[in-house]
Amino acid sequence: MSDCIFCKIVKGEIPAKKVYEDDKVIAFNDISPQSPIHILVIPKNHISSANDINDENKEIIGHIFSVISNIAKSEGIADKGYRIVNNCGEDGGQTVSHIHFHILGGRQLQWPPG
Ligand code: IMP
Repeated sequence: MSDCIFCKIVKGEIPAKKVYEDDKVIAFNDISPQSPIHILVIPKNHISSANDINDENKEIIGHIFSVISNIAKSEGIADKGYRIVNNCGEDGGQTVSHIHFHILGGRQLQWPPG
């Protein structure tokens, strides 16, 4: 989508500090980190939110979780733990309409979220 900021990051039109990239996904540091490690993992193809996961595109989610597992190890947070967050829609707190998974780690996280 032409006006999607994460599509622009995929296309290199907006700079991002990339942590990982392959043909299907890209991971980059969140611009406003909420923990010492705060990385976003997104599919390169535009999917607006979890509401748009279906039988045709569901495989990307498994791939994203595999990538998350590898990033957690390479970032050194796998052993102590971390949180994977997907906000969906307005009440879920989603502010960018391109599905993304937050990896939050490097400190003790609280529960429940606000
Ligand atoms: P959401 O609130 O779950 O939709 O998360 C969107 C995330 O994208 C927020 O944590 C923002 O800080 C982050 N974000 C927005 N614009 C950029 C950017 O240009 N680069 C990196 N992260 C961004």
